[in-house]
Amino acid sequence: MEHCDIVIVGAGAAGIAAARSADEAGGKSILLVDSKQKMGGVLLQCAHHGFGPQLTGVEYVQKLLEQFPKEIKVMLGTTVVSVSSDRTMVLSSPSCGLQKIRFEQLILAAGCQEIPIGALPIGGTRPEGIYTAGQAQELVNICHKLPKGPSVILGSGDLGLIMAEQLSLEGVKVAAMIEQKAVCGGLARNQRCLETYHIPLLCSSTVTEVLGQEVLTAVKVSRSDTGEEQIIPCSSLLVAAGLRPDRSLLLGLGSPDWVHLCGNCRRVHPMVEAVTAEGKQAGAAACVRMKK
Ligand SMILES: Cc1cc2nc3c(=O)[nH]c(=O)nc-3n(C[C@H](O)[C@H](O)[C@H](O)COP(=O)(O)OP(=O)(O)OC[C@H]3O[C@@H](n4cnc5c(N)ncnc54)[C@H](O)[C@@H]3O)c2cc1C
Repeated sequence: MEHCDIVIVGAGAAGIAAARSADEAGGKSILLVDSKQKMGGVLLQCAHHGFGPQLTGVEYVQKLLEQFPKEIKVMLGTTVVSVSSDRTMVLSSPSCGLQKIRFEQLILAAGCQEIPIGALPIGGTRPEGIYTAGQAQELVNICHKLPKGPSVILGSGDLGLIMAEQLSLEGVKVAAMIEQKAVCGGLARNQRCLETYHIPLLCSSTVTEVLGQEVLTAVKVSRSDTGEEQIIPCSSLLVAAGLRPDRSLLLGLGSPDWVHLCGNCRRVHPMVEAVTAEGKQAGAAACVRMKK
């Protein structure tokens, strides 16, 4: 069975920073694994500026990867399927199939998951045209396809606002942004697009039903304060209802002292600098544990 001192799961900003810092701290036999084919995680789908703070997400990754140490083994297109308490893990990839690895220290940098429509109390069927905001972002920036307009966005946090701006720039009409709280959720700089593109923000409201059989035709929106309902015709619905840390690999393991969490799988961060800093700390901490 292959053995590594330090395995890092996730090659987003946190995982890349962790791998680099573990190497700088003198770590040997470091393995970085990601299920995607490229390093960068969510940054790869961020075409907007605001990272670091003047770069796009893609440019920020390029910077992080400058002079990436050759000694670090990187396995892309490889998913960590499970982690066991005896410090082994099972990896899966199309080229090697299932593979078991033994390790000493684990740095979990697996990012976060979006809350899907299935987790929300929204009635109706699930016709074509419903995406999470992150899926829509990937569709636009990586697959170069657009969701059909008009579009309704549920959730006015930064991710929802970024997608509202991007769809408007690409010529897809955003018919409304729906927010259950009394005020918009995102940063002021991201809220500007509502005015620029005349996007109505319906606060104290939520989507209660999606309408349409095979394809989405409209959503039903209800106000929580007055109970008033309205139907908004649309061909796509982007659900930007929040993100939650992805620690599914640790289920049933408790909090062993050989696991180090960093980035969005520790807690969801709005800014990438904090993620990178946490990754660095985790890499150094794993090396300190190795030496004990
Ligand atoms: C839409 C959006 C806009 C943002 N805008 C800004 C901004 O303007 N400015 C700013 O500073 N910050 C911004 N951020 C925040 C910041 O960019 C992110 O918080 C940060 O990039 C997250 O990095 P991460 O490494 O924690 O997670 P991720 O980038 O999500 O990386 C996690 C990686 O783990 C991999 N993975 C997960 N599970 C497994 C497994 N079992 N096996 C193998 N691999 C696995 C995934 O494939 C992924 O590549 C934004 C975030 C989002 C989502």
